[in-house]
Amino acid sequence: MNSPAGAAAAQPAAPQELTRELLRLHARILLRMPLFQLLLIGGFAWVLLAHVDRGDFAAWAAFALCAELVRAGAARLALSRLPRQSAATLRSMHAAFVALDACAGLSIGLVAVLFLRHAPLLEQMLLETVLFAVAAAGASVALSSRYIVAAYSSTVLLCAGWSWDRLHPSQAAVVTALTFVYWLFLLGVARDAEQLLVRSIAIRRERDAAYADLQTKNEELERLNGQLRLLMAERSRMLAATSHDLRQPLQALSLYSAVLAARPGPQALDEVGRNIEYIVQSVGDLLDNLVDLARLSTGSYPLRLQAFRLDGLVQRSCEAFAQSAATKGLKLHCRIDGPMLLHGDPAAVSRVLRNLLDNALKYTRQGSITVTLEQQSGHALMSVEDTGAGIDPQQQARIFEEFYRVDSGDGAQAAGAGLGLAIVKRLCDALQAELQVRSTPGRGSCFGVRWPNAQAVGDADVARGVDAALPRRRGHARIYAVDDDPAVTSSLAQLLQLWGYEVSCASDAEGIEALFSRSGPPQLLISDLRLGAGVDGLELALRLRAGHGEFPVLLVCGDAPGPAQERARAHGVPLLRKPASTFRLRERIESLLGPPPG
Ligand code: ADP
Repeated sequence: MNSPAGAAAAQPAAPQELTRELLRLHARILLRMPLFQLLLIGGFAWVLLAHVDRGDFAAWAAFALCAELVRAGAARLALSRLPRQSAATLRSMHAAFVALDACAGLSIGLVAVLFLRHAPLLEQMLLETVLFAVAAAGASVALSSRYIVAAYSSTVLLCAGWSWDRLHPSQAAVVTALTFVYWLFLLGVARDAEQLLVRSIAIRRERDAAYADLQTKNEELERLNGQLRLLMAERSRMLAATSHDLRQPLQALSLYSAVLAARPGPQALDEVGRNIEYIVQSVGDLLDNLVDLARLSTGSYPLRLQAFRLDGLVQRSCEAFAQSAATKGLKLHCRIDGPMLLHGDPAAVSRVLRNLLDNALKYTRQGSITVTLEQQSGHALMSVEDTGAGIDPQQQARIFEEFYRVDSGDGAQAAGAGLGLAIVKRLCDALQAELQVRSTPGRGSCFGVRWPNAQAVGDADVARGVDAALPRRRGHARIYAVDDDPAVTSSLAQLLQLWGYEVSCASDAEGIEALFSRSGPPQLLISDLRLGAGVDGLELALRLRAGHGEFPVLLVCGDAPGPAQERARAHGVPLLRKPASTFRLRERIESLLGPPPG
């Protein structure tokens, strides 16, 4: 026998689940059936008791009620077990219901077989009508399965039809045919109802699945919202920190301008000049750091990968910091394993080392700083160790967050913006380098970076001068500067002359072209990127190169990073962002020209 879910064969979504659902529906209705049976027995008693033996009727009534009670008991049992049953058991349960429903139909039909002949014609007709109606009612009770409807209605109608035909043989053929047609009609209704039920159950299941899906998506949305709120809070924290870090130097600048307005003596002037220089440098650093952090966060930081001598880079960085360390009374040791070639971005590697050295200097009051570079099977291990304040173990995971500063309580935290290590971490991630920190409060810290793609360089390579990162050294130093702002060219010229360079200035393209025609190319051209009247400093420099041969160019620009900077990079022209501290400017010029003469 097929299961009722056979009708749902078109529903690939678990026909077994549909069978379970249909059986549950049927069983729930059966729980109420003993009451209906009692009413039916009462009705039959009212029609028949005056004409039949009361004992016989009572016996039939007891049997009919028992049959219904057994069906209800089976339904209760089925309801408690349904959730755990396998497909095969569900099929057996359905077959059992079919058998029980046939018995229930028989128990009702027997009323006609046993008592119809004792009743007068009017009562006979009433009894038969009720039995035909009971068969229809049975169909509506068992709509969940056409097999159940067939079992119940066929036994009721069989008994009713047979009893009538026996009493009225002249009507037998017509009554039998009509009963059969009626039975077929009931089956048709049951089949349609079954399909409707199956479909509505399938729709309900789909709705439940869609609801569950919606709930999962809602939860996911809720989670993302939470993340967004955290990010917004983090962004607000960063903006507040940036605003604070920018306001501090601006406040200091405004105070210094008041000092300058009071026309102080040469010594105070000197000090104010040095402090303003420091402020400009720190604001420039902060802006640079912010821009770089933003680009590192969005993955748009341009890495320029190349092979370069890491040992040379480390050596030069140590030399650059030696003076500051000595001024603080610290010993700076530089231990390099030997010549080493690294495939990476020299500017990024140098930035990492500079930030680590900067911190080591800032947070070490006495003792030493040791920079080590070792070769380790395909890797280069670079470390910066100090004997400084150290970092509390609970803070160590957070020091790589933006604007996170450990409050040491001695004022040292005021020295930085809390971006140095965030940039170190992101640069290391971008270059797939491993960054580690070991630190003991009060005893010192050691930051180590494991660079991949490193190899030791043999003597032959060293002799060939394998070092892409070393600045080109030049003997003679004549610089041309071009900027459409006369105040900038004049202050730049004064500064460069102070540093010992020979400088000629122009304020536009014509002026600089005339200078080239008159005196030939310089050892360095410093040009603003935007020269006014739509003239592009890079294009001008490239045109001059095409006309007068190669010479180094340094571009200066106040814009946020964009296509112009990318073009400069593509042509290998270095670019300095405004405001550029004199330290940066000098560093750049020296890297292009070598130190000034004398
Ligand atoms: P900052 O600009 O404040 O130095 P960083 O991101 O470079 O910001 O460092 C974050 C914090 O980590 C610092 O505030 C400092 O407390 C701690 N820190 C970093 N390097 C060291 C070090 N070498 N010794 C002790 N503390 C350090």
